[in-house]
Amino acid sequence: MRLIPALLILLAFAVPARAEDVSVLAYHRFNPAGSTGATTVSTRVFAAQMDRIAESGFTVVPLRALLDGSVLPPHAVAITADDGHRSVYTEMFPILRRHGFAATLFLNPPGLDHGSYLRWAEIAEMQASGLIDPEPHTTSHLNFNTERARRTPEAFAALLRHELADPRAILASRLGTRADILAWPFGIHDDALEAAAREAGYIAAFALGGRAASAGAPAFAVPRYQVYETDVGVRFDRVLAGIPRGQAK
Ligand SMILES: [Zn+2]
Repeated sequence: MRLIPALLILLAFAVPARAEDVSVLAYHRFNPAGSTGATTVSTRVFAAQMDRIAESGFTVVPLRALLDGSVLPPHAVAITADDGHRSVYTEMFPILRRHGFAATLFLNPPGLDHGSYLRWAEIAEMQASGLIDPEPHTTSHLNFNTERARRTPEAFAALLRHELADPRAILASRLGTRADILAWPFGIHDDALEAAAREAGYIAAFALGGRAASAGAPAFAVPRYQVYETDVGVRFDRVLAGIPRGQAK
């Protein structure tokens, strides 16, 4: 059978991450003095990771490019940061700007302008660079599993409507954005939550999961890689290559 070798070759090419698979990196906080926990990456390691993206021939694409049918370059990667910590402005943004890398920020609007969180003026300045897209991370960053357990179905549905719709309206009015891409707090999502997000006008929602986003992934549970301080060298290369966390090869 002359067909078999050709088929085997096709299968061999089909096994690695597909061309349309894109690793979406999820960061939270940055610290110039070093990592202080799983959600904090030192400025030094973040800078090294961005250098690695540039050296490896990867192209950083805006998150929206994964969603709008854009033709992506062969080695595409997307960058996000959740929670609106002020170190996004002081540590992350200067490094992104140096490389001309785009990133999406997922924000809880009522928490902004206080304490260690971003100021609206800082968000507007980053947005004006053309690199930064501010998007909702719900209103209050609640754990929806916990909140659902302590409410009637009707009360939870009402809470959910506010948690999903209000930040869209606030970001749209303060920053003029479409505010139609969501990141789930704590990565928690299920069919009912996804349906509520769709109803609130979102076009997609991002979770965690430690694997690449693929063209076939459900639009309201798109996986991302939480990036750690230990993601250097080969470990970071595996993330860029879209190899699932915990997979041996
Ligand atoms: Zn968060």
